Amino acid sequence: MIDAVWWSYSLALSAFFFSLPFSRYMHIPTEILYIILKNAGIKSTVSRDGYAESEIYSCSSCGLCIDACPMCSASNKERFTSVYFVRALRNRSNFAEEYARECLMCGKCMEACPVGIDSIKLRELKKEESMSYGKYDNDYLSNAKYSNTPLDAPELIYYAGCMTHLTPGIYKSIINILEKASVNYTFLDKDGSICCGRPLIISGGREKAKKLIERNREIIEGTGAKVLLLSCPICYRIFKEEYALSGIKIMHHSEYIAKLADENRIRLKKGDFSVTYHDPCDLGRGCKVYEEPRKLLAKSANLNFYKESGPMSHCCGGSLASDRFSFEERGKVAKNALLSIEAGKADVVATSCPLCLKTLSVWHDKRVADISQIVNEQMI
Ligand code: SF4
Ligand code: SF4
Repeated sequence: MIDAVWWSYSLALSAFFFSLPFSRYMHIPTEILYIILKNAGIKSTVSRDGYAESEIYSCSSCGLCIDACPMCSASNKERFTSVYFVRALRNRSNFAEEYARECLMCGKCMEACPVGIDSIKLRELKKEESMSYGKYDNDYLSNAKYSNTPLDAPELIYYAGCMTHLTPGIYKSIINILEKASVNYTFLDKDGSICCGRPLIISGGREKAKKLIERNREIIEGTGAKVLLLSCPICYRIFKEEYALSGIKIMHHSEYIAKLADENRIRLKKGDFSVTYHDPCDLGRGCKVYEEPRKLLAKSANLNFYKESGPMSHCCGGSLASDRFSFEERGKVAKNALLSIEAGKADVVATSCPLCLKTLSVWHDKRVADISQIVNEQMI
Protein backbone atom coordinates (compact mmCIF):
# COMPACT_ATOMS: atom_id res chain seq x y z
CA MET A 1 0.00 0.00 0.00
CA ILE A 2 2.77 2.43 1.00
CA ASP A 3 4.62 1.54 -2.24
CA ALA A 4 1.53 2.40 -4.30
CA VAL A 5 1.15 5.78 -2.57
CA TRP A 6 4.87 6.51 -3.01
CA TRP A 7 4.74 5.67 -6.74
CA SER A 8 1.56 7.68 -7.31
CA TYR A 9 3.09 10.66 -5.53
CA SER A 10 6.37 10.40 -7.49
CA LEU A 11 4.58 10.05 -10.83
CA ALA A 12 2.30 13.02 -10.11
CA LEU A 13 5.30 15.13 -9.10
CA SER A 14 7.26 14.12 -12.24
CA ALA A 15 4.25 14.89 -14.44
CA PHE A 16 3.99 18.34 -12.82
CA PHE A 17 7.68 19.13 -13.45
CA PHE A 18 7.58 17.82 -17.05
CA SER A 19 4.48 19.88 -17.87
CA LEU A 20 5.73 22.98 -16.01
CA PRO A 21 7.29 24.75 -19.05
CA PHE A 22 3.98 24.42 -20.91
CA SER A 23 1.75 25.52 -18.03
CA ARG A 24 0.92 28.85 -16.39
CA TYR A 25 2.92 27.75 -13.32
CA MET A 26 6.18 28.32 -15.21
CA HIS A 27 6.20 31.77 -13.63
CA ILE A 28 7.15 30.24 -10.24
CA PRO A 29 10.75 29.20 -11.07
CA THR A 30 11.20 32.00 -13.64
CA GLU A 31 10.24 34.64 -11.12
CA ILE A 32 13.11 33.64 -8.83
CA LEU A 33 15.59 34.03 -11.70
CA TYR A 34 13.99 37.32 -12.80
CA ILE A 35 14.20 38.84 -9.32
CA ILE A 36 17.89 37.84 -8.97
CA LEU A 37 18.74 39.37 -12.39
CA LYS A 38 16.68 42.49 -11.71
CA ASN A 39 18.37 43.08 -8.36
CA ALA A 40 21.74 42.72 -10.11
CA GLY A 41 20.78 45.79 -12.18
CA ILE A 42 20.49 43.98 -15.53
CA LYS A 43 18.39 45.67 -18.22
CA SER A 44 17.06 44.37 -21.53
CA THR A 45 18.25 45.75 -24.84
CA VAL A 46 15.81 43.82 -27.05
CA SER A 47 12.33 42.52 -26.29
CA ARG A 48 13.41 38.84 -26.39
CA ASP A 49 16.91 38.63 -24.85
CA GLY A 50 17.65 36.32 -21.90
CA TYR A 51 16.61 38.85 -19.26
CA ALA A 52 13.43 39.87 -21.11
CA GLU A 53 12.65 36.17 -21.50
CA SER A 54 12.81 35.68 -17.72
CA GLU A 55 10.58 38.75 -17.29
CA ILE A 56 8.01 37.59 -19.85
CA TYR A 57 7.76 34.11 -18.31
CA SER A 58 7.44 35.58 -14.78
CA CYS A 59 3.97 36.96 -15.47
CA SER A 60 1.49 34.90 -13.44
CA SER A 61 -1.53 36.14 -15.45
CA CYS A 62 -3.05 37.43 -12.21
CA GLY A 63 -4.72 40.30 -14.10
CA LEU A 64 -4.07 42.99 -11.47
CA CYS A 65 -2.68 45.19 -14.25
CA ILE A 66 -6.08 45.16 -16.00
CA ASP A 67 -7.86 46.64 -12.98
CA ALA A 68 -5.15 49.29 -12.58
CA CYS A 69 -5.16 50.53 -16.18
CA PRO A 70 -6.89 53.91 -16.60
CA MET A 71 -7.25 53.53 -20.37
CA CYS A 72 -8.70 50.03 -20.08
CA SER A 73 -11.68 51.29 -18.06
CA ALA A 74 -12.05 54.37 -20.30
CA SER A 75 -11.92 52.55 -23.64
CA ASN A 76 -13.45 49.21 -22.61
CA LYS A 77 -10.48 47.49 -24.29
CA GLU A 78 -8.30 45.02 -22.45
CA ARG A 79 -6.19 43.62 -25.25
CA PHE A 80 -3.26 46.04 -24.81
CA THR A 81 -2.97 45.74 -21.01
CA SER A 82 0.27 44.29 -19.70
CA VAL A 83 -1.00 40.75 -19.17
CA TYR A 84 -2.07 40.44 -22.84
CA PHE A 85 0.92 42.36 -24.16
CA VAL A 86 3.34 40.10 -22.25
CA ARG A 87 1.43 37.02 -23.43
CA ALA A 88 1.65 38.26 -27.04
CA LEU A 89 5.43 38.66 -26.63
CA ARG A 90 5.69 35.17 -25.14
CA ASN A 91 3.73 33.67 -28.04
CA ARG A 92 5.66 35.76 -30.60
CA SER A 93 2.31 37.09 -31.78
CA ASN A 94 2.17 39.68 -34.56
CA PHE A 95 -0.16 41.70 -32.32
CA ALA A 96 2.60 42.44 -29.79
CA GLU A 97 3.74 45.57 -31.63
CA GLU A 98 0.21 46.96 -31.90
CA TYR A 99 -0.42 46.28 -28.20
CA ALA A 100 2.87 48.05 -27.41
CA ARG A 101 1.63 51.13 -29.25
CA GLU A 102 -1.85 51.00 -27.65
CA CYS A 103 -0.69 52.21 -24.24
CA LEU A 104 -0.27 55.57 -22.51
CA MET A 105 2.92 54.33 -20.80
CA CYS A 106 1.64 55.83 -17.54
CA GLY A 107 3.19 53.04 -15.46
CA LYS A 108 0.22 52.48 -13.15
CA CYS A 109 0.05 48.78 -14.05
CA MET A 110 3.69 48.39 -12.99
CA GLU A 111 2.85 49.70 -9.51
CA ALA A 112 0.05 47.11 -9.27
CA CYS A 113 2.14 44.20 -10.61
CA PRO A 114 3.21 41.89 -7.74
CA VAL A 115 6.17 40.65 -9.80
CA GLY A 116 7.37 44.12 -10.81
CA ILE A 117 7.35 43.43 -14.55
CA ASP A 118 8.72 46.47 -16.39
CA SER A 119 6.14 46.41 -19.16
CA ILE A 120 7.00 49.98 -20.21
CA LYS A 121 10.58 49.01 -21.04
CA LEU A 122 9.34 45.93 -22.91
CA ARG A 123 6.93 48.11 -24.92
CA GLU A 124 9.70 50.58 -25.74
CA LEU A 125 11.92 47.75 -26.97
CA LYS A 126 9.13 46.22 -29.03
CA LYS A 127 8.42 49.57 -30.68
CA GLU A 128 12.13 50.07 -31.40
CA GLU A 129 12.23 46.81 -33.34
CA SER A 130 9.58 48.02 -35.77
CA MET A 131 10.26 51.77 -35.83
CA SER A 132 10.16 53.32 -39.27
CA TYR A 133 11.72 56.79 -39.44
CA GLY A 134 10.34 57.75 -42.86
CA LYS A 135 11.97 61.05 -43.83
CA TYR A 136 13.32 61.77 -40.36
CA ASP A 137 16.47 63.88 -40.60
CA ASN A 138 18.41 65.38 -37.69
CA ASP A 139 21.55 66.52 -39.53
CA TYR A 140 20.67 70.09 -38.52
CA LEU A 141 21.72 69.22 -34.97
CA SER A 142 25.46 69.49 -35.60
CA ASN A 143 25.08 73.29 -35.99
CA ALA A 144 22.12 73.80 -33.66
CA LYS A 145 22.69 76.36 -30.90
CA TYR A 146 20.67 78.12 -28.21
CA SER A 147 20.49 81.86 -28.81
CA ASN A 148 20.60 82.45 -25.06
CA THR A 149 23.74 80.42 -24.24
CA PRO A 150 25.40 82.23 -21.28
CA LEU A 151 28.92 83.70 -21.55
CA ASP A 152 29.72 83.34 -17.82
CA ALA A 153 28.74 80.26 -15.84
CA PRO A 154 25.42 81.02 -14.08
CA GLU A 155 24.27 79.37 -10.83
CA LEU A 156 21.40 77.77 -12.75
CA ILE A 157 20.15 77.23 -16.27
CA TYR A 158 16.45 76.93 -16.96
CA TYR A 159 15.37 74.63 -19.81
CA ALA A 160 11.63 75.02 -20.28
CA GLY A 161 11.19 72.38 -23.03
CA CYS A 162 8.65 72.21 -25.85
CA MET A 163 5.54 71.60 -23.73
CA THR A 164 6.29 74.47 -21.34
CA HIS A 165 6.67 76.80 -24.32
CA LEU A 166 3.06 75.88 -25.13
CA THR A 167 1.98 76.88 -21.60
CA PRO A 168 3.74 80.26 -21.15
CA GLY A 169 2.06 80.90 -17.79
CA ILE A 170 4.45 78.33 -16.31
CA TYR A 171 7.75 79.73 -17.57
CA LYS A 172 6.69 83.32 -16.81
CA SER A 173 5.95 82.29 -13.21
CA ILE A 174 9.28 80.46 -12.92
CA ILE A 175 11.17 83.53 -14.18
CA ASN A 176 9.36 85.74 -11.63
CA ILE A 177 10.22 83.33 -8.82
CA LEU A 178 13.89 83.15 -9.86
CA GLU A 179 14.07 86.97 -10.04
CA LYS A 180 12.40 87.35 -6.64
CA ALA A 181 14.88 84.89 -5.09
CA SER A 182 17.82 86.70 -6.78
CA VAL A 183 19.00 83.51 -8.46
CA ASN A 184 21.82 83.97 -10.98
CA TYR A 185 20.19 82.13 -13.89
CA THR A 186 19.99 81.91 -17.67
CA PHE A 187 16.81 80.95 -19.53
CA LEU A 188 18.64 78.68 -21.96
CA ASP A 189 15.84 77.86 -24.40
CA LYS A 190 14.05 81.21 -24.24
CA ASP A 191 13.83 81.23 -28.04
CA GLY A 192 12.96 77.54 -28.45
CA SER A 193 14.39 74.13 -27.54
CA ILE A 194 16.15 71.22 -29.10
CA CYS A 195 13.73 68.48 -27.98
CA CYS A 196 14.87 66.51 -24.91
CA GLY A 197 14.39 63.24 -26.85
CA ARG A 198 11.83 61.48 -24.66
CA PRO A 199 8.92 61.66 -27.13
CA LEU A 200 11.16 59.85 -29.64
CA ILE A 201 12.24 57.22 -27.10
CA ILE A 202 8.70 56.34 -26.07
CA SER A 203 7.74 56.05 -29.74
CA GLY A 204 10.55 53.55 -30.29
CA GLY A 205 13.07 56.00 -31.78
CA ARG A 206 15.93 55.62 -29.29
CA GLU A 207 18.61 55.61 -32.00
CA LYS A 208 17.54 59.01 -33.35
CA ALA A 209 17.00 60.40 -29.85
CA LYS A 210 20.68 59.74 -29.05
CA LYS A 211 21.71 62.59 -31.37
CA LEU A 212 19.35 65.05 -29.67
CA ILE A 213 20.62 63.97 -26.27
CA GLU A 214 24.27 64.31 -27.32
CA ARG A 215 23.80 67.83 -28.69
CA ASN A 216 21.81 69.03 -25.68
CA ARG A 217 24.38 67.51 -23.32
CA GLU A 218 27.30 69.27 -25.06
CA ILE A 219 25.54 72.64 -24.84
CA ILE A 220 24.31 72.24 -21.26
CA GLU A 221 27.63 70.97 -19.88
CA GLY A 222 29.37 73.82 -21.74
CA THR A 223 27.46 76.44 -19.72
CA GLY A 224 29.29 75.54 -16.49
CA ALA A 225 26.03 75.84 -14.49
CA LYS A 226 25.61 73.83 -11.30
CA VAL A 227 21.84 73.28 -11.57
CA LEU A 228 19.65 72.40 -14.54
CA LEU A 229 16.07 73.45 -13.80
CA LEU A 230 13.21 71.78 -15.70
CA SER A 231 9.47 72.37 -15.70
CA CYS A 232 8.30 69.41 -17.72
CA PRO A 233 8.36 65.98 -16.00
CA ILE A 234 8.79 64.35 -19.42
CA CYS A 235 12.09 66.25 -19.88
CA TYR A 236 13.01 65.80 -16.22
CA ARG A 237 12.75 62.04 -16.43
CA ILE A 238 14.87 61.67 -19.54
CA PHE A 239 17.53 64.09 -18.29
CA LYS A 240 17.79 61.98 -15.14
CA GLU A 241 17.72 58.60 -16.87
CA GLU A 242 19.64 59.18 -20.09
CA TYR A 243 21.82 62.31 -19.98
CA ALA A 244 24.44 61.50 -17.30
CA LEU A 245 25.33 65.22 -17.02
CA SER A 246 28.65 65.75 -15.34
CA GLY A 247 28.70 68.08 -12.30
CA ILE A 248 25.14 69.38 -12.86
CA LYS A 249 22.26 68.73 -10.47
CA ILE A 250 18.99 68.11 -12.31
CA MET A 251 15.93 69.51 -10.55
CA HIS A 252 12.25 69.78 -11.32
CA HIS A 253 10.77 73.19 -10.51
CA SER A 254 8.70 71.73 -7.65
CA GLU A 255 11.93 70.58 -5.97
CA TYR A 256 13.83 73.79 -6.66
CA ILE A 257 11.05 76.14 -5.53
CA ALA A 258 10.55 74.06 -2.36
CA LYS A 259 14.28 74.47 -1.70
CA LEU A 260 14.03 78.26 -2.22
CA ALA A 261 11.12 78.35 0.25
CA ASP A 262 13.01 76.22 2.81
CA GLU A 263 16.00 78.56 2.56
CA ASN A 264 13.70 81.59 2.97
CA ARG A 265 14.80 82.95 -0.41
CA ILE A 266 11.09 83.30 -1.18
CA ARG A 267 8.25 83.71 1.32
CA LEU A 268 4.70 82.52 0.78
CA LYS A 269 1.39 83.55 2.27
CA LYS A 270 -1.39 81.01 2.63
CA GLY A 271 -4.33 81.90 0.39
CA ASP A 272 -7.96 81.51 1.42
CA PHE A 273 -8.77 78.82 -1.15
CA SER A 274 -8.65 75.03 -1.33
CA VAL A 275 -6.49 73.07 -3.72
CA THR A 276 -6.16 69.41 -4.70
CA TYR A 277 -3.04 68.04 -6.36
CA HIS A 278 -2.76 65.81 -9.44
CA ASP A 279 0.50 63.77 -9.57
CA PRO A 280 1.96 63.75 -13.11
CA CYS A 281 2.98 60.18 -14.07
CA ASP A 282 6.57 60.98 -15.06
CA LEU A 283 7.20 63.10 -11.96
CA GLY A 284 5.49 60.79 -9.46
CA ARG A 285 5.77 57.17 -10.58
CA GLY A 286 8.62 58.00 -12.97
CA CYS A 287 10.89 60.00 -10.64
CA LYS A 288 9.32 59.51 -7.18
CA VAL A 289 8.73 63.23 -6.57
CA TYR A 290 5.57 63.33 -4.43
CA GLU A 291 6.43 65.40 -1.40
CA GLU A 292 7.79 68.74 -2.65
CA PRO A 293 4.72 69.83 -4.67
CA ARG A 294 2.49 69.07 -1.68
CA LYS A 295 4.81 70.95 0.69
CA LEU A 296 4.60 74.04 -1.52
CA LEU A 297 0.84 73.81 -1.89
CA ALA A 298 0.35 73.40 1.86
CA LYS A 299 2.24 76.69 2.32
CA SER A 300 0.24 78.50 -0.39
CA ALA A 301 -3.36 77.27 0.11
CA ASN A 302 -5.57 74.80 1.98
CA LEU A 303 -4.42 71.48 0.57
CA ASN A 304 -7.08 68.77 0.32
CA PHE A 305 -6.23 65.09 0.75
CA TYR A 306 -7.81 62.14 -1.05
CA LYS A 307 -7.39 58.38 -1.19
CA GLU A 308 -5.71 57.43 -4.48
CA SER A 309 -2.68 59.72 -4.32
CA GLY A 310 0.98 58.98 -4.89
CA PRO A 311 2.05 55.83 -6.77
CA MET A 312 -1.51 54.74 -7.64
CA SER A 313 -2.58 58.15 -8.98
CA HIS A 314 -4.45 58.33 -12.29
CA CYS A 315 -2.94 59.42 -15.59
CA CYS A 316 -4.39 62.67 -17.04
CA GLY A 317 -4.89 60.96 -20.42
CA GLY A 318 -2.74 63.42 -22.37
CA SER A 319 0.27 61.10 -22.77
CA LEU A 320 2.39 61.43 -25.92
CA ALA A 321 3.10 57.69 -25.94
CA SER A 322 0.19 56.54 -28.11
CA ASP A 323 -1.78 57.84 -31.07
CA ARG A 324 -4.27 54.97 -30.93
CA PHE A 325 -6.95 56.52 -28.68
CA SER A 326 -9.71 58.98 -29.52
CA PHE A 327 -10.23 62.41 -27.98
CA GLU A 328 -13.29 61.03 -26.15
CA GLU A 329 -11.38 58.05 -24.72
CA ARG A 330 -8.64 60.38 -23.49
CA GLY A 331 -11.37 62.63 -22.07
CA LYS A 332 -12.76 59.73 -20.02
CA VAL A 333 -9.30 59.11 -18.57
CA ALA A 334 -9.00 62.81 -17.67
CA LYS A 335 -12.46 62.87 -16.06
CA ASN A 336 -11.61 59.77 -13.99
CA ALA A 337 -8.37 61.45 -12.92
CA LEU A 338 -10.33 64.52 -11.81
CA LEU A 339 -12.81 62.32 -9.91
CA SER A 340 -9.98 60.45 -8.20
CA ILE A 341 -8.49 63.68 -6.80
CA GLU A 342 -11.95 64.93 -5.79
CA ALA A 343 -11.54 67.97 -8.02
CA GLY A 344 -15.16 69.03 -7.46
CA LYS A 345 -14.46 69.69 -3.75
CA ALA A 346 -11.53 72.07 -4.39
CA ASP A 347 -11.38 75.63 -5.71
CA VAL A 348 -8.26 74.86 -7.72
CA VAL A 349 -6.71 71.74 -9.25
CA ALA A 350 -2.93 71.99 -9.09
CA THR A 351 -0.38 69.98 -11.02
CA SER A 352 3.28 70.32 -11.94
CA CYS A 353 3.37 69.34 -15.60
CA PRO A 354 2.53 71.44 -18.66
CA LEU A 355 0.90 68.48 -20.44
CA CYS A 356 -1.32 67.60 -17.44
CA LEU A 357 -2.20 71.29 -17.14
CA LYS A 358 -3.30 71.52 -20.77
CA THR A 359 -5.19 68.22 -20.66
CA LEU A 360 -7.04 68.69 -17.37
CA SER A 361 -7.97 72.29 -18.27
CA VAL A 362 -10.02 70.96 -21.19
CA TRP A 363 -12.13 68.68 -18.97
CA HIS A 364 -12.52 70.69 -15.75
CA ASP A 365 -14.81 73.68 -15.36
CA LYS A 366 -12.89 75.29 -12.48
CA ARG A 367 -9.33 76.58 -12.39
CA VAL A 368 -6.41 74.24 -13.15
CA ALA A 369 -2.96 75.70 -12.43
CA ASP A 370 0.66 74.69 -12.21
CA ILE A 371 2.24 74.92 -8.75
CA SER A 372 4.67 77.54 -10.12
CA GLN A 373 1.69 79.77 -10.96
CA ILE A 374 0.16 79.32 -7.50
CA VAL A 375 3.48 80.00 -5.77
CA ASN A 376 4.07 83.06 -7.97
CA GLU A 377 0.69 84.48 -6.92
CA GLN A 378 1.23 83.71 -3.22
CA MET A 379 4.75 85.17 -2.92
CA ILE A 380 5.15 88.14 -0.57
S1 SF4 B 1 1.14 51.80 -18.76
FE1 SF4 B 1 -0.83 52.76 -18.16
S2 SF4 B 1 -2.07 52.79 -20.06
FE2 SF4 B 1 -0.37 51.33 -20.41
S3 SF4 B 1 -1.22 49.34 -19.84
FE3 SF4 B 1 -0.18 50.15 -18.02
S4 SF4 B 1 -1.77 51.21 -16.85
FE4 SF4 B 1 -2.57 50.89 -18.95
S1 SF4 C 1 0.00 42.31 -12.80
FE1 SF4 C 1 2.03 41.63 -13.51
S2 SF4 C 1 2.04 39.43 -13.08
FE2 SF4 C 1 -0.12 40.06 -12.95
S3 SF4 C 1 -0.91 39.72 -15.05
FE3 SF4 C 1 -0.21 41.84 -14.99
S4 SF4 C 1 1.92 41.78 -15.76
FE4 SF4 C 1 1.33 39.67 -15.21
